[in-house]
Amino acid sequence: MTYDIAVIGGGIVGLSFAMQATQKFPDKRVLILEKESGVARHQTGHNSGVIHSGIYYKPGSLKAQLCVEGARVMVEFCRQHSIPHEVCGKLIVAANAEESARLDELRDRGIANGLVGLRLLPPEEMREIEPHVGGVRALLVPSTGITDYALVTAKYAEIAQAHGAELKTSAAVRGFQLSSGTVTIQTRTGDFVARYVVNCAGLYSDRIAQLAGHDPEMTIIPFRGEYYDLINSRKALVRSLIYPTPDPRYPFLGVHFTRRIHGNVDAGPNAVLAFRREGYKWSDFDLGEALGTLTYPGFHKLARSQWKYSISEIHRSLSKKEFVRSCQKLVPEVRYEDMQPGGSGVRAQALGPDGSLVDDFRFVPRDRFLHVLNVPSPAATASLPIGREILQMAEAHW
Ligand SMILES: Cc1cc2nc3c(=O)[nH]c(=O)nc-3n(C[C@H](O)[C@H](O)[C@H](O)COP(=O)(O)OP(=O)(O)OC[C@H]3O[C@@H](n4cnc5c(N)ncnc54)[C@H](O)[C@@H]3O)c2cc1C
Repeated sequence: MTYDIAVIGGGIVGLSFAMQATQKFPDKRVLILEKESGVARHQTGHNSGVIHSGIYYKPGSLKAQLCVEGARVMVEFCRQHSIPHEVCGKLIVAANAEESARLDELRDRGIANGLVGLRLLPPEEMREIEPHVGGVRALLVPSTGITDYALVTAKYAEIAQAHGAELKTSAAVRGFQLSSGTVTIQTRTGDFVARYVVNCAGLYSDRIAQLAGHDPEMTIIPFRGEYYDLINSRKALVRSLIYPTPDPRYPFLGVHFTRRIHGNVDAGPNAVLAFRREGYKWSDFDLGEALGTLTYPGFHKLARSQWKYSISEIHRSLSKKEFVRSCQKLVPEVRYEDMQPGGSGVRAQALGPDGSLVDDFRFVPRDRFLHVLNVPSPAATASLPIGREILQMAEAHW
């Protein structure tokens, strides 16, 4: 049988696309190919579960537009399908006068992105919201929330399948054969034929593009993020979400406290280079993948510009004392013995050959393919509008 659309990757992005494609085009045959035995096994199932507000992103960027809209529709989706969620708000905390000045800029950026209800709080007011927080000032972002993105993705899959999509798990894509009008997709469990292919393979999206014979003009760099959990008796130190003021020189938000939707409180994630794309711990190593990262031309430039940051992240990963010290900037009362090792996740971050980290979401149509090449955080939050955008782009090319 020939499918109209094959989606590679059963993460939140691929399944959002598949769900919306089947809803909009009930007559099209949609196939989802996932290499694991179930959906949401990688980034989607290993993230912080935060429904981001959209405050951080450059006004006018896809990230800003799709995140602000995505947060709103994610809350509606969760409500409609009884998926646990809570719009609990968050505090972004300034530790000193320099960070305090950056909070003003962040507030202005949030307003430019259309956020409402942002408030700069003096210490006494921020401690009414989070009694144990440290720092000199905070920005309250009321629209931030929490949910469980693995449950959201399972629901996307259920709806897509109810509308006729077929989900094949344990079907790792290994290659393609192009003929006029169709693509034969070779997988571990056999071949499938489709007229159009949407590549949502996350940590392997660049590899899938290469298998299709396309130069992705970037590579995926895997950054592992590790978490510590607060022990039960100390969970009360954090009521909702406490973030540091982001440093614009660095790509990630910094270690923060997150109360999860299922009740635990964790701190993290840090950001260390992983030597395997799905390397969830230091001992996970793949020579080919590690060499692929280390020999990529852009990587040397990135390493030169970010070596101090990288060393401090490695130090924090290897030293619990150092990790706890970062956490104490946000919640001074937290102690070494209050924290126990938690989970980890690996972010797929696109890096260009010039050594710059690709900042915005990137979707690239080529021939009978649409490659979703850069969908890092806040892509779980923004997954519904991302799925809609790539559907519109696919429609224009299939
Ligand atoms: C530590 C961490 C914290 C984060 N926190 C947040 C947050 O709080 N809020 C937020 O909005 N976002 C967050 N994110 C980002 C968010 O999780 C990702 O942007 C999002 O999950 C990306 O979804 P995806 O579908 O593109 O990728 P994935 O979930 O990785 O899915 C890709 C799928 O493709 C499959 N695949 C790969 N290769 C093949 C192949 N050859 N054949 C078949 N299948 C293949 C994989 O098995 C995988 O299931 C976080 C990410 C991480 C790692």
